[in-house]
Amino acid sequence: MRRLGFVGTPCQVQGLRKLQALQAATGREWIGRVELVLGLFCTGNWSYACMRGFLEKHGVSAAEVTRMEISGGVVKLRMKRMQMVLPLRELRRYTRMACRLCVDFTSELSDISAGSAGSPPGWSTLIVRTRTGEILLNEAVDEGAVELIELEDGVEELSRVAGSKVEKNARRIEARIEQGMEVPHYSTRNLEDMQQVLRLASGKGYAELWREIVATGVCDACGACAAVCGQIQMINGLPRLNGRCPAGCELCYAACTRTALPLRLLEDTLFRDGQRAEYLGRFRRIVGARSTADSAGQDGGAVTALIKFSLNSGFIDGALLTCRGDGWEPAVRLVHRHEDVETCAGTVYAASSPLPELRRYAHVSI
Ligand SMILES: Cc1cc2nc3c(=O)[nH]c(=O)nc-3n(C[C@H](O)[C@H](O)[C@H](O)COP(=O)(O)OP(=O)(O)OC[C@H]3O[C@@H](n4cnc5c(N)ncnc54)[C@H](O)[C@@H]3O)c2cc1C
Ligand code: SF4
Ligand code: SF4
Ligand code: SF4
Repeated sequence: MRRLGFVGTPCQVQGLRKLQALQAATGREWIGRVELVLGLFCTGNWSYACMRGFLEKHGVSAAEVTRMEISGGVVKLRMKRMQMVLPLRELRRYTRMACRLCVDFTSELSDISAGSAGSPPGWSTLIVRTRTGEILLNEAVDEGAVELIELEDGVEELSRVAGSKVEKNARRIEARIEQGMEVPHYSTRNLEDMQQVLRLASGKGYAELWREIVATGVCDACGACAAVCGQIQMINGLPRLNGRCPAGCELCYAACTRTALPLRLLEDTLFRDGQRAEYLGRFRRIVGARSTADSAGQDGGAVTALIKFSLNSGFIDGALLTCRGDGWEPAVRLVHRHEDVETCAGTVYAASSPLPELRRYAHVSI
C-alpha cells in the first residue's frame, strides 16, 4: 500500500498528525504513507457499550437500526418497519469524559473537514484547509463526483456551533485545573519544536501515561500509543500493556496527544497559507457539498464521494475507515474498492481506535 487516505474524528486526526511529526524520532516510517486526511466535525462520542445500553434501555436492539442521526437535540433511529426519536439529553449523560475536555470541533488538522453544521439538510459542510485538499476537491468537482454550493449564513452558524463546544469545554478544563485534576496538557500548544515534546516525555513511559491520562478519563481512545508500540493493545477503548517495557522507553507517552499537542507547530507545518477563524482553525475555503451519486452518506455523502474519487483517480490506493460493524459496533477497515467505501458511509456514534491499524495495514500490498 503506497498512499493511504484516512477519515477520522478530530482527536484521531490529532493523533495521526502528531505521529507524522514524530516520524523521524520514532522511526515509524509507515505513518508517512497517509497522504490524505479527511476529518469530521464532532461534539462528543460514546463508548460502544454505553450506546448499546442506551438503545436497549429503550427496547431497541442495535442490530435492528438501519440509520442513526443525532441532531436538533434528539437521537433519530430508523428501523425496517418504524422510526423512533429519543431524547439526546439522556444519552449526553454518558458522553465520555475525554469528549468533555476536547476543544476541537472541526478537525482543525485535516486536509478537508466535513460535518453537517452550517449546511442545509442533504448537504455536508466542507472546510478545505490544505493545498492537497483544495486540489482534490477541485478535481472531484471537475470530474462530476461532487457538487458544491456557497454557504452564506451557514459559516456563521458553523462558527456558533463550534464556539459553543470549545468554550464550554474550555471552562470545564479550567474548573478541573482549579480543583487540581488532570486535563489534556494544553499548555503545550505553543511548543516550538518536536524536541521539546520529546523532552517533556523524558523519564515517562506507560506507567505515567496510564496514571496521568488513562486513569483520569483524559484518554480519548485515539490509539496513537498503541500505533507506536506493539506491546499496547486497545481493549474497550483503553490502551492496555501486554508485556514488559524496556528501561528508558518513552515512546507511548511521547506519542499521546493528550500529554502534549504542539498545535501551532503542527499547523505551521501543514498550512502554508489560508486564513484563520476562531473555533474553525486555518482554512482556504468553506463550502456546502454533496455526492452526485446516490449515497447512504450521513449528510451529503461528500466524504464517501471524495474517498471514492481519490481511489478511482489513483490519488490514494487504500483508505482506513471506521465502518458499521455488527450491531453498530465500530469496525476499522482498510478499503481499496470504491464499492466497499460505500458500505462504510454514515456515522457510527461510538468511539473507534483506528491508529494502531495503520501500522498493521501499511505493509499490505494490493
Ligand atoms: C462521533 C461523531 C460525532 C459527530 N458530531 C457532529 C456534530 O456534532 N456536528 C456536525 O456537524 N457533524 C458531526 N459529525 C459529522 C457528521 O456526522 C458526518 O460524518 C459529516 O457531516 C459528513 O457527512 P457525509 O455524508 O459527507 O459523510 P459520509 O459520506 O456518510 O461518510 C462518513 C465517514 O465517516 C466515517 N465514520 C463514521 N463513523 C465514524 C467514527 N465513529 N469515527 C471515525 N470515523 C467515522 C466513515 O468511515 C465515513 O468515511 C460527527 C461524526 C461523528 C463520527
Ligand atoms: S475527544 Fe470526543 S469530542 Fe473530541 S474529537 Fe474525539 S470523539 Fe469527538
Ligand atoms: S514499551 Fe515503551 S512504548 Fe511500549 S508501552 Fe512500554 S514504555 Fe510505552
Ligand atoms: S493514552 Fe493512547 S489512546 Fe489515550 S489519548 Fe493517549 S495516545 Fe490516545
